[in-house]
Amino acid sequence: PLTARTFSELIDHHATRRPDHIATHFNERQLSYSGLQQQRDSVATALQGTGIGPGDRVGILAKNSDRYIELLLGVTHVGAVVVGLNWRLSAKELSYISNDSDMRCLFIDSGFADVAEQLIDSSPSLTQVVVIDGSTPNWPNLDGWLGDTPPGNSATTPATADSPALQLYTSGTTGNPKGVVLPHRAFFDPWVYDEVANMAWNRIAPEDKVLLAMPFFHVGGIGLAFMALRAGACSVIVPEFSPAAFIDLVPAHKITRTFLVPAALRAVLLDSRAANADWSSLSHVIYGAAPMPEALLLEALTLLKCKFVQNYGMTELCGTVVHLPPEDHQPGSPRLRAAGLPTPTTELRIIDQTGNDVATGEVGEIIIRSPATMLEYWRNPAATAETLIDGFIHTGDAGYLDEDGYLYIFDRMKDMIISGGENIYPIEVENAVFNHPAVSDAAVIGIPDDHWGELVTAVVVLKEGSAVTEAELISHTKDQIASYKCPKRVIFTDELPRNASGKILKRELRQPFWAGRERSI
Ligand code: ATP
Ligand code: MG
Repeated sequence: PLTARTFSELIDHHATRRPDHIATHFNERQLSYSGLQQQRDSVATALQGTGIGPGDRVGILAKNSDRYIELLLGVTHVGAVVVGLNWRLSAKELSYISNDSDMRCLFIDSGFADVAEQLIDSSPSLTQVVVIDGSTPNWPNLDGWLGDTPPGNSATTPATADSPALQLYTSGTTGNPKGVVLPHRAFFDPWVYDEVANMAWNRIAPEDKVLLAMPFFHVGGIGLAFMALRAGACSVIVPEFSPAAFIDLVPAHKITRTFLVPAALRAVLLDSRAANADWSSLSHVIYGAAPMPEALLLEALTLLKCKFVQNYGMTELCGTVVHLPPEDHQPGSPRLRAAGLPTPTTELRIIDQTGNDVATGEVGEIIIRSPATMLEYWRNPAATAETLIDGFIHTGDAGYLDEDGYLYIFDRMKDMIISGGENIYPIEVENAVFNHPAVSDAAVIGIPDDHWGELVTAVVVLKEGSAVTEAELISHTKDQIASYKCPKRVIFTDELPRNASGKILKRELRQPFWAGRERSI
């Protein structure tokens, strides 16, 4: 059994048990568990040489790679904290995060050198930049920088289970991203690795080949990387997701498991090569991080023909806390609309505005207590106090529990539409719009209206070569949901605004309609 409580103990465990087993595979490069341990030690020694130690923040601004994992292990080995930076953000947004986190050292891909230049100028505490691939006139290359350091005695003050390990910023779907401080402990929730507690369908083994295709700067991407490392499995890493890479790599590496957000699954389904690709190696596809339209899920099930598992979670809870297991993925089953069952170590309640538990089947705010909870929002005691109350994370998500304890997620509380005095959760409307054969993508928002308060409005992207009118689409929804929930207006567009985790930015969709009005968006 795995007794590790920190990332360092985890790598030591596997480096002893299976030193030559391949841990990471990136392009042509393969690294064994003992190789990973050595790389960790040399990163740790070099960091100590620059005076980095417990509690210091070290940024990584890079696409996914094996080096990212080495750095993550090296940084946490000296007790420092990795700040995973979303490289899709603008220089201004990144500068907000580098200042907010007080990072002292930053590892970058050479492609982000210009941005790093600006971060150095705007962040007083940032003094060292190291280039992971290649080099720039101003900063050392990672291998050179590691080579310069004499072997030292790293990890003089080893991290404990409660030490902060990762500072990940939330997706910023509802506002400014917040720095979520996660301790080592959050990645070692006994449910996740304990053989007894682990449900049979989810057991992951050293023989597994895990495709890491979602970005490491988000909890879903890095969470799967750690799930693979905990199991002693082999991870195949892609720098960034593309449907083409996915379609090539799954058969080439005989991938058994992967995690994709709904937007990525949709991109795979839209790729003309997907239908003829060889998916036979896949045993589990995990999806989550954003609502999964049922129509899309059904298409994916038909195409990939493997077990599907839904994850519901968030950065504040170190990823997944609710799973929908494979057996609940039967076409036609109402469970296809559920997010799933809380994991055994997750305590989940649904509360009303006064903080009392609602009755079974009633919608309220989801609150969750779990061993994988964040320590705090970095330097934001006010936001921490609002979100973390008596050990419960107040998720801001609306949902209900059925008699069997399955969680159904409705929406973010902030996205709920109040029209004609009725509460309407966009997700129900989106599902009704989405299953029209001409619809490729859809989001439902409320726009201000003098008569209704908010007008239910569907913003729709049509499939190429398909056509449907506003009236036809509205009448299509009337067959499925109560008429007060049906869109009163349909806006056709070419693309929906999404952030790097593939989440639709409803506040951006709403903004032109609400400019100068009251709704907090
Ligand atoms: P911010 O907190 O900055 O607004 P965010 O909440 O999108 O951004 P994350 O922590 O990446 O940042 O995402 C967590 C949220 O994603 C959840 O609160 C929930 O709204 C949504 N989510 C996660 N999994 C699912 C799922 N399976 N189905 C529906 N929604 C999901
Ligand atoms: Mg959030």
